[in-house]
Amino acid sequence: MKRITHWIAGQAWTGEAERRGDVYDPATGRVTGQVDFAGVAEVDEAVSAASGAFDAWRHTSLAKRSSTLFAFRELVNARRDELASIIVSEHGKVHSDALGEIARGLEVVEFACGIPHLLKGGFTEQASTGMDVFSIRQPLGPVAIISPFNFPAMVPMWYFPIAIASGNTVVVKPSEKDPSAAAFLAELWKEAGLPDGVFNIVHGDKVAVDRLLQHPDVKAISFVGSTPIARYVYENGTKHGKRVQALGGAKNHMLVLPDADLGLAADAAVSAGFGSAGERCMAISVLVAVDPVGDELVAKIKDRMATLKVGPGCNGDSAMGPLVTGGHRDKVTSYLDAGLADGAELAVDGREHVIASHDADGQETADGFWLGPTLFDHVKPGMSVYDDEIFGPVLSVVRVTSYEEGLQLINGNPYGNGTAIFTNDGGAARRFQNEVEVGMVGINVPIPVPVAYYSFGGWKDSLFGDTHAYGAEGVHFFTRGKVVTQRWKDPSHGGIDLGFPKNE
Ligand code: NAD
Repeated sequence: MKRITHWIAGQAWTGEAERRGDVYDPATGRVTGQVDFAGVAEVDEAVSAASGAFDAWRHTSLAKRSSTLFAFRELVNARRDELASIIVSEHGKVHSDALGEIARGLEVVEFACGIPHLLKGGFTEQASTGMDVFSIRQPLGPVAIISPFNFPAMVPMWYFPIAIASGNTVVVKPSEKDPSAAAFLAELWKEAGLPDGVFNIVHGDKVAVDRLLQHPDVKAISFVGSTPIARYVYENGTKHGKRVQALGGAKNHMLVLPDADLGLAADAAVSAGFGSAGERCMAISVLVAVDPVGDELVAKIKDRMATLKVGPGCNGDSAMGPLVTGGHRDKVTSYLDAGLADGAELAVDGREHVIASHDADGQETADGFWLGPTLFDHVKPGMSVYDDEIFGPVLSVVRVTSYEEGLQLINGNPYGNGTAIFTNDGGAARRFQNEVEVGMVGINVPIPVPVAYYSFGGWKDSLFGDTHAYGAEGVHFFTRGKVVTQRWKDPSHGGIDLGFPKNE
């Protein structure tokens, strides 16, 4: 059985773990590997490697740092199919979707390749007589990245390219449910020439996270996961004097105005509701239909849902794979009973979906963690299918009578990660973009994940901290500012060199 272990100081950890966790292939339900869980000693070992590597890395020139980033980018790009297969085998999402998350992660690597430009400071000549003032940004030290199961490559890649490019050293704590993608990336960093100790991984659970939150040498924490844990990480990390950005859960609404193209809106709702089996923090989970288009929209969505092929992520024709674990599938499925008990109308029941996969002997089995796409209609606030983040292939339709009622619903929700409006009315869209209390807004775009040179982050219970991920805010998070005021009486230079100045 495959063993997945920590990566410390440029190599796989060779110790014996006291605790381990099972890793599953969600399409078959079989255990395919075991991941070592770090205790305090292993976390300390990784942080010590990161601390030891910091001084040399922070003094490495920007030219060398960015060329290492370029090399890493080329390696990930060349081996993206292999990485996608690893993601499919532990997360369950379909191969094309796994390639999509790698592509979005690579965008951040490409952004970070421009670190010499991104770290440029300001300069004021002659601020006072004979005196100049300039600003510089410097790295923090060892930083920790704690990531969720749903994007095992992309979410760590939101952070570590910029953290490393800025001169920090990193300890990643991936999700214990799909730990192999991070391990694969560690090997590519080594091949790209990153010095040992700059990129480390500890696997595990709360024990590892708690140690990272408390360790005095960890200077910053970037966390992504569910809201209760994000709040916990923010409160405990800041209590221990760390800079923290903690991204939490979501309940993303898509508002469809009566003038919208309903065919396009139905396509978008199905794509954004059921892509990656709804296990995306930017998935649409609530469709808000403004009267009188509800019935027509629901009919169009049902038609499209009937065409979705659910099956193993490694099958080229599957549109949607299984859920990540049996426990998560059972939790998501429990919302179907809860919704019915609360009086919502189950328009499409995902439990009736026949889902095939094959075991090692080629026999057909249904032991994977399956649930088909599910649609609830006439959902209302107060029902758990509306109030809770389900994080599965369950789309709820709420009917409202006006734009104002829809906006009030969205702004009244405790989450504020993503949202979308579908309309052909530019004025209404502009009003929505201004009035909605959500961090990422799509106008006829259902999953408005910002490109790498903007920043990713929600509002309210979807993000704790002041700084969003990647883009300029990412650079800001992983560096601290310094302002220098200088005066020189008589600068003198010496030596002659006729060679062309080199950048190294
Ligand atoms: P999770 O909160 O269970 O786990 C996230 C990380 O925290 C993992 O590394 C896990 O090992 C660790 N963890 C779990 N329990 C812990 C505890 N008690 N103490 C300390 N650490 C703990 O989240 P998940 O199930 O892996 O991922 C799904 C969640 O992540 C959803 O809520 C989703 O919305 C959210 N998410 C948010 C974003 C965003 O950008 N806002 C992006 C992706 C996922």
